[in-house]
Amino acid sequence: MTKYDVFIIGAGPIGLACGIEAEKAGLSYVIVDKGCLVNSIYNYPLNMTFFSTSEKLEIGEVPFISHGSKPNRFEALEYYRRVSSTWNLNVSLYNKVEKVDRLEKSGEFQIITERGPFEAKAIVMATGFYDFPYLLNVPGEELTKVRHYYDEPHPYFGQKIVVIGAANSAVDVALETWRKGAEVTMVIREKEIRDSVKYWVKPDIENRIKEGSIKAFFNSSLTEIREREVEVNTPDGKLTFDNDFVLAMTGYKPDFTLLKSMGVEFQDDEYKTPKYDNITHESNASGIYLAGVVCGGLKTNKWFIENSREHAPVIIQDILKNKNEI
Ligand SMILES: Cc1cc2nc3c(=O)[nH]c(=O)nc-3n(C[C@H](O)[C@H](O)[C@H](O)COP(=O)(O)OP(=O)(O)OC[C@H]3O[C@@H](n4cnc5c(N)ncnc54)[C@H](O)[C@@H]3O)c2cc1C
Repeated sequence: MTKYDVFIIGAGPIGLACGIEAEKAGLSYVIVDKGCLVNSIYNYPLNMTFFSTSEKLEIGEVPFISHGSKPNRFEALEYYRRVSSTWNLNVSLYNKVEKVDRLEKSGEFQIITERGPFEAKAIVMATGFYDFPYLLNVPGEELTKVRHYYDEPHPYFGQKIVVIGAANSAVDVALETWRKGAEVTMVIREKEIRDSVKYWVKPDIENRIKEGSIKAFFNSSLTEIREREVEVNTPDGKLTFDNDFVLAMTGYKPDFTLLKSMGVEFQDDEYKTPKYDNITHESNASGIYLAGVVCGGLKTNKWFIENSREHAPVIIQDILKNKNEI
């Protein structure tokens, strides 16, 4: 079994950036992902456009040139494929990490993945937050008409859809599906559309609601989903209306179970922030580092590509320093 200096979990932009730094530092490494390359971005809505300009998403000194002022999902997929081939990164895809054990004698790690075991001296967790949606926990959530991920508007043409949520993704989904011919009702727990919604989109949704093109129930929640209808609790009482699809855009959270099983602890704050050193990014569990969005715990908008690609060099430098000290 090959023993790597660094085992990187997650082939998102930040996991790839860590691989590039390991390559530069002459450390042996592998980047393992349960899905395809940049699996989270692959699962983003098909027509999404990044809010960052392309140079802010660059890693490994590979230029990212997009056609518009902001890159879209297709350009980003192409860009990160190009990064991976330019650096000839050692990536193992469709290979979920199931378990990480610390070897008692050496303090090093054995990693169990779908495709077999690996050994490594250090682990970088770059697992993001996009794999675990917040569930509604209402009867009927298991029906196939309930979706926690949105890809494109076409399937919803002519359909009665309910969009849950009041943040950016819910607003984008409501506007895009309505513009492509869906009958859209938003069910929103809060009393208004969130302030964090992109400033160039917020007036659009507010005006569509005001003019009645998109229906919205504020201070309301879904209480039951049935094959052909939904039940909603509103300030005016319970309502039942016809429904074909429910798009629950209620956000996502990191894989706390895997972190916990590896001995990573969490701060006692509302975001369940993992404990790690702010400078080196080593977690409380020695030899296990945190990179990218996962560092924010439930505060999933704290870190993004723009501001977390810098985690990669500091982590790899610390791993290199520890290796040289042995
Ligand atoms: C709609 C949308 C628009 C965005 N726009 C921007 C933007 O404009 N600018 C910006 O900077 N950021 C943006 N972001 C955020 C950005 O996409 C994320 O911050 C970025 O993907 C985080 O990178 P990451 O490498 O930390 O995690 P991710 O990209 O989420 O990668 C994590 C990887 O880990 C893998 N993984 C998880 N668990 C396991 C396991 N057990 N075994 C193996 N692999 C595993 C996943 O499959 C995934 O590929 C946007 C996000 C969304 C949702």
